[in-house]
Amino acid sequence: MDTPLNLVNVTLEYPDGEDTLKALDRVSLAVGAGDFLALVGPSGSGKSSLLAVSAALIRPTSGAVTIDGEVVTGLRDADLTALRREKIGIIFQQPNLLPSLTSAEQLVLADHLRGKPLMAARRRAAELLDVVGLGTVRDKRPHQLSGGQRQRVNIARALMGRPRVLLVDEPTAALDHERSAGIVRLLREVTDEFNVATVMVTHDTDFVSLTDTVATMRDGRIRSLQPSGSVTSRASS
Ligand code: ADP
Ligand code: MG
Repeated sequence: MDTPLNLVNVTLEYPDGEDTLKALDRVSLAVGAGDFLALVGPSGSGKSSLLAVSAALIRPTSGAVTIDGEVVTGLRDADLTALRREKIGIIFQQPNLLPSLTSAEQLVLADHLRGKPLMAARRRAAELLDVVGLGTVRDKRPHQLSGGQRQRVNIARALMGRPRVLLVDEPTAALDHERSAGIVRLLREVTDEFNVATVMVTHDTDFVSLTDTVATMRDGRIRSLQPSGSVTSRASS
């Protein structure tokens, strides 16, 4: 099976005074193409750390991270950067858009930084803005957009490089319920349409029914991995 993201026995330690703190403790996780995984758990349980090692932003202390068949834990920094640019889309809570650029230009710039030809980048930007429902505001700047629209630009931008893995940290934390639902629905759609492996950290169990699997973390470990249908009826934790 095509498994764009694979973690085997990943441990990430930070020095903690005389001691060490295990942000991740022997985590193994496989996310297939077209799979949408929700990552839940209390604050400090290791969710952001799991995203950071999956994005090859942090090297784990031990264990193996494989992205699109390539074991990244052994790569040099320059190769890591290239792999991240080609294979990974990252979406954080704050869209971090450039204030002076239109929606289309935010996307074109992302491809320009990858060294892609301008014409192709413009075409892809227009297509992706249509996919995320922003076709009519492609010439608007961030301050002219709603919070939900800005997050949609962020998602479209993350897809510009045709990633295999989409890593999303609390994408709805700054949005109201209705807009949050729209964003998670969009993540579901793009996961299917572009066949990416998507991991979304969320504290909002309201929307996990749109995902395939829910991984619950505690103390750096994945305590349970369940089909989303079996956890949706529970009150939010
Ligand atoms: P979550 O995203 O679930 O809130 P994190 O992955 O941010 O959890 O953090 C997991 C644990 O690792 C926490 O105990 C946190 O304090 C610790 N941690 C995270 N980043 C660092 C860091 N850069 N240096 C030291 N400890 C860290
Ligand atoms: Mg976090």
